[in-house]
Amino acid sequence: MLHYFRRKLFWQKRRARLVYYSTAFFFVFGITSAWAMSEEEFGKLLLPGKITVTNPFLDSCDSKRECGRVFKLLHAGIDYRARVPTEVRSPVSGTVVKKKSGSKEYEPLKDRAGSIIVEVTGEEKPMYFLFLHMSKSFVKVGDIIKAGCIIGLTGKKGTIFPHLHVEYKEMRDKKSIWPTPSLKTIEDIKNRGNISPVQAV
Ligand SMILES: [Zn+2]
Repeated sequence: MLHYFRRKLFWQKRRARLVYYSTAFFFVFGITSAWAMSEEEFGKLLLPGKITVTNPFLDSCDSKRECGRVFKLLHAGIDYRARVPTEVRSPVSGTVVKKKSGSKEYEPLKDRAGSIIVEVTGEEKPMYFLFLHMSKSFVKVGDIIKAGCIIGLTGKKGTIFPHLHVEYKEMRDKKSIWPTPSLKTIEDIKNRGNISPVQAV
């Protein structure tokens, strides 16, 4: 009889521990996942279907071995595998801009092959999203677009393999930053949930 109760207590304790640890795990996981959006998660806001990151963001590497002797691995944006043509949506509301020739106004945003540049609305510092290697643009400079708007089609301009290169740039320190451009932007994007494509204005 005593044996029976001991055994029962053992399982009760064990179950309590399991509940405790799993609750703690999901609590911590929930908090940390709210802080940063993964590159795959972010890709879902831009492209339809299965998201594959072919080249992740890398802004620094410590050792020569890590950085590569022959190839420079540093990458200012994220590359997503994308068939041509695939519709690309803007993850943020903003204004379509372009580097002004002869001006340094958008200097870090050098015009690159098939680029669409969106200046994010509502940021304290000028913030930009760049979409490269596009085959077609449905927006023009000066257009004000809403998040979820289809801005163009993927392509392979300036690259061998068709893919979408997305870059987030902060103007002032001329630096590309990822994966948390600003918590406000990430929160805005997350809170929007499933964005439905809307027509460009
Ligand atoms: Zn790239």
